[in-house]
Amino acid sequence: MTTRRTIMVLAASLGVVGLLTVVPDFPQASLAAQAPAEPAAAPVPSGLVKTLLVTGGPIHDGKAIGDLVEEAMKKSGLFDVTRAHEDLDAFLADRIAPFDLVVFYYTLGELKEAQKRGLMNHIAAGRGYVTFHSGADSFRGDPDYRAFVGGHFVTHPRYRQYHVSITENDSPITKDIDEFMITDEQYILDYDPRVTVLANALFKGKTVPVMWTKPWGKGKVFYLALGHDAKACQQEMFKKLLIRGSLWAAGRPVIDPK
Ligand SMILES: [Zn+2]
Repeated sequence: MTTRRTIMVLAASLGVVGLLTVVPDFPQASLAAQAPAEPAAAPVPSGLVKTLLVTGGPIHDGKAIGDLVEEAMKKSGLFDVTRAHEDLDAFLADRIAPFDLVVFYYTLGELKEAQKRGLMNHIAAGRGYVTFHSGADSFRGDPDYRAFVGGHFVTHPRYRQYHVSITENDSPITKDIDEFMITDEQYILDYDPRVTVLANALFKGKTVPVMWTKPWGKGKVFYLALGHDAKACQQEMFKKLLIRGSLWAAGRPVIDPK
């Protein structure tokens, strides 16, 4: 019995050795070729940025401003825009899944738990979130949303022209811009000091941020304080910054469309 068992073990060993001798120089390639079919790895981003544009809420004209933003993004030839108006269920995990970028213009409202989870987990997995103006006054008092955006609305002076200074020239969003004048409702914001402030403006002698970037997990967040009404959103600088910030958040090269 013992001898027979020894021979079997030896034969098995020889079999293994025999198999090893025919393994090619690139065993991983060989293993991969034999592996059962699996979904391909995520491709390097190319083509149009699949964008979900969510608008709504009271006070601001989410419909008209959303139309302008949708038009500017489509005209750039860089974004494939799907619109959701007054429909926060667009954030639910199964509906948000196809999108590389979420652009959000909304005021007040309430984010339900499943909507919040859908949005924040999707962005944390490596997508982009862009919100402007009252996007920092949405879901007022929700600490999770405040942490996600990086700040929140406090007050505003009257609608007027004001001066904006770029403070961060290393970002592709602010490339070749030093300062500009803008006519809009200036937002005074409380914000997380860990955000990267890209531009400031003065209010009562103190500087307040006009735009910032921040990470969210593997994702990127861009906030722009401009955009109170349709007139403000028609200004070229508003459109330029929104497009640049959207490309940045989506992980694409930042260019100015012709
Ligand atoms: Zn406003």
